[in-house]
Amino acid sequence: MRVETFPVGPLACNCTIAADEKSGEAIVVDGGDGVEEVSARLKRRGWHARLLVHTHAHIDHVGDVGRLREFTHGKALLHPADLPLYQTLALQATWLGVEAPPVVALDGELHDGDVLRAGALRFDVLHTPGHTPGSVSFAVREGDATTLLTGDTLFAGSIGRWDLGGTSMEDIVRSIQTKLLPYDDATPVVPGHGPATTIGVERRTNPYLLG
Ligand SMILES: [Zn+2]
Ligand SMILES: [Zn+2]
Repeated sequence: MRVETFPVGPLACNCTIAADEKSGEAIVVDGGDGVEEVSARLKRRGWHARLLVHTHAHIDHVGDVGRLREFTHGKALLHPADLPLYQTLALQATWLGVEAPPVVALDGELHDGDVLRAGALRFDVLHTPGHTPGSVSFAVREGDATTLLTGDTLFAGSIGRWDLGGTSMEDIVRSIQTKLLPYDDATPVVPGHGPATTIGVERRTNPYLLG
């Protein structure tokens, strides 16, 4: 398995491509604001994106998923609780002062407990509401090793905003405590923005999770 994370778009959203190198099958996480970059990387490596999954429906994460799907032919998935937010893409674009990408019909839903597979890749879906109602994290599993992709739920030393509609700080902290902190201290965490961290470092030092 190979996991590549790289920032895309004006808000430097961390996009991740995870691939099973044997079969060449891949899952793209939050690639909608990096259509060219994601497509170029897939082509360069000879990987095929089976699934285009999203931690939530903010424009920097979901962006122009319709065009990404045209390039990759992957299935685009989102948690249903974020579908109303996805419909506000045009409004989100005006906040950023960018052109609005089209809202497209997605191919399916992500739900807590779902297991996504592409080749030997395995992603467990964890519903972690709080930043948005439909925010999810992904546990990328290979053998005994797990990497957590936490979107805008958990950052290194911080947590995502909870004031963007319909959620509270208690929601996001509860999601982190019940869905993410049960993982071992050594578990790497790749957040939706900024540097990587581990569950142990966040458990010990993240001010939102202490006390
Ligand atoms: Zn967000
Ligand atoms: Zn974001």
